[in-house]
Amino acid sequence: MKQMSLRSMFLLLFTIAFSIGLFALCYLSFTNGDDWTSFPANRHIYKNGTIVNAGDITDRDGVVLATTEEGKRIYNPDFYIRVSTLHAVGDLKGFIKTGLSTSHWDTLTGYNRVTGLFSAKSGGNNIELTLSAKVNTVALKALGNYSGAVGVYNYKTGEVVCMVSSPTYDPTKEGKEDKGIYINRFLSSSYPPGSTFKLVTAIAALETLDDAETRTYVCDHGTTVEGETISCMSKHGEMTLREALAKSCNAYFSQLAIDLGADTLQKYADKLGLNSAAEIDGIKAKSGRIDLSNIRKVDLGWAGMGQYTDLVNPLGYLTVMGAIANEGKAVKPYLIESVTSADGIKFGSSSTDYTSQLFSRTTANKLKEMMRYTVSSTYGDHRFPGLSVCAKTGTAEVDEGITPHSWFVGFNMNDDYPLAFVVVAENAGAGVGVARTVANKTLQAAKELF
Ligand SMILES: [Zn+2]
Repeated sequence: MKQMSLRSMFLLLFTIAFSIGLFALCYLSFTNGDDWTSFPANRHIYKNGTIVNAGDITDRDGVVLATTEEGKRIYNPDFYIRVSTLHAVGDLKGFIKTGLSTSHWDTLTGYNRVTGLFSAKSGGNNIELTLSAKVNTVALKALGNYSGAVGVYNYKTGEVVCMVSSPTYDPTKEGKEDKGIYINRFLSSSYPPGSTFKLVTAIAALETLDDAETRTYVCDHGTTVEGETISCMSKHGEMTLREALAKSCNAYFSQLAIDLGADTLQKYADKLGLNSAAEIDGIKAKSGRIDLSNIRKVDLGWAGMGQYTDLVNPLGYLTVMGAIANEGKAVKPYLIESVTSADGIKFGSSSTDYTSQLFSRTTANKLKEMMRYTVSSTYGDHRFPGLSVCAKTGTAEVDEGITPHSWFVGFNMNDDYPLAFVVVAENAGAGVGVARTVANKTLQAAKELF
């Protein structure tokens, strides 16, 4: 009897040890399987260090952005299509980590995560994107020599129609030495938001202050907080929120931020997702950073208008624009419309997905009206023919003596063209200049999609 129990005990221990081992193997193979298989030595996927046997990547109109011919990866013959869609499509060697050729190599090559096998037919799966090569081309040309990012999406469906990052390069040629070219600035960078952040402060005010629309602050070429000056470009006098947003008054928003308090502003920055990494088709973007802990009063004033240490990520910001346009609840942006197998079977079609209610419908509609007024009264509707743009500029100070970043963010109010956008042009000066021009050119091209 005693011997039996010892034997069962041994068997039991053996079974447990075996199960742990099996579990560990399954776990490791599931979590690392991709790395093991995509290791460049694996000749199924890589040949001479470049990806082969991958399916086509096409834009929303069926324009082939990348394909495989006789074991060789080929890009679109048009130079501007190649370079403007490169950060979405990815390069041959996997340097652009967020490019689909790297992030979705398993889908493209037909690798099955569970079986570890490739689909029987060579050529893998095809990925159809929501992007428009045409709109991307226009956006990149509009950016000219400026580094930066342009993102435009349909705030009703979630389709990203434009995603451009500059600088870029021709994937058929060797990349430059500069590592910065491999970064998709729309997904993997964070920038000081400058005055575009006044929208976040406005949301916090509209959500928490009963008199948000009627309370006034005085601007005397700025304001003084605890002996330190926060300057403003004009002497705006006494203003309400609506006027202060349209004129982008620093004095108003710094005093408003101080009255809201660090906790409230922090709460809304967090709620809007500005401190979390946004995601698009499983690709993780960089998180922004709004940290108002242990902040001095005067710095809270600066933070409330997008300076201090504030940083935002363009994709995260685009989602916030989508939420303002869409009654406080954003449609999540996506890039992959569908995936089709080598034998023509469509699977993995995307569907419209929403964020939680980020702020109330009332707040969204009030802010929408204010952003509309900002465009019609300050920038001028004639600058956006055929559109009813709601927007905010930003001129984000970087370091002393360096030209600030130029921002233009917002959306078209008209449901016929439900487009939200984020444009940032690095060291391009006032938002009302370069970024505004890039936004209009890109929107005019995106309008043609409807
Ligand atoms: Zn002012």
